[in-house]
Amino acid sequence: MRIDSARREAVAIMPHARHKKRAEKLIRDKQDWLNGHLQNLPPPMPFVPGSEILLRGQKVKLVEAAGRGPACLDEYDLIIPCPQGASFAGRTRRALIARAREALTTQAHIHADGLNTKFSAITVRDTNSRWGSCSASGRLNFSWRLICAPFEVLDYVCAHEVAHLIEHNHGPRFWALVATRIENVKAPRRWLRNHAPDLFAVGAEV
Ligand SMILES: [Zn+2]
Repeated sequence: MRIDSARREAVAIMPHARHKKRAEKLIRDKQDWLNGHLQNLPPPMPFVPGSEILLRGQKVKLVEAAGRGPACLDEYDLIIPCPQGASFAGRTRRALIARAREALTTQAHIHADGLNTKFSAITVRDTNSRWGSCSASGRLNFSWRLICAPFEVLDYVCAHEVAHLIEHNHGPRFWALVATRIENVKAPRRWLRNHAPDLFAVGAEV
């Protein structure tokens, strides 16, 4: 049994369906423990006007604007144009995905050039289990939530996946490649471990 910070739920995994009764009893017995942990998750940062979310590791406020066009950052206000009838949450999500794609594409090109390799495409979407991955066909996949993390964290994940284009493992040769691109891999890795629940709180509903 564990707390899934991505889904903001408790998850109990049973080895077999016949253990369902026992699993249910375990959940009832552990209710206080579960509630305590669920309450310790960072507060949700919903996509509603006036809400504060994380962008590049900083708190910014979501501001709704009339009309169309790309979102823009005005100091600590992220201004989201939202035509009448459109979903503000949907527009905010799209704006973050667009920013994530732009930053990740720029960094992926820089790291691929630096390592003298090429990728075939970049996909940015909501992934719960991994911040990034690299397919055998050279496609790089990333979580849009990386745009909410400090730039060094996004840059590290990007360099990590680009290095997988050459070394499809986590062996010493792989880490040596990453080290040529990122001076200190420990800090961004630690940040991701400690702040994953914060990233998953972005866009979570109240
Ligand atoms: Zn990896």
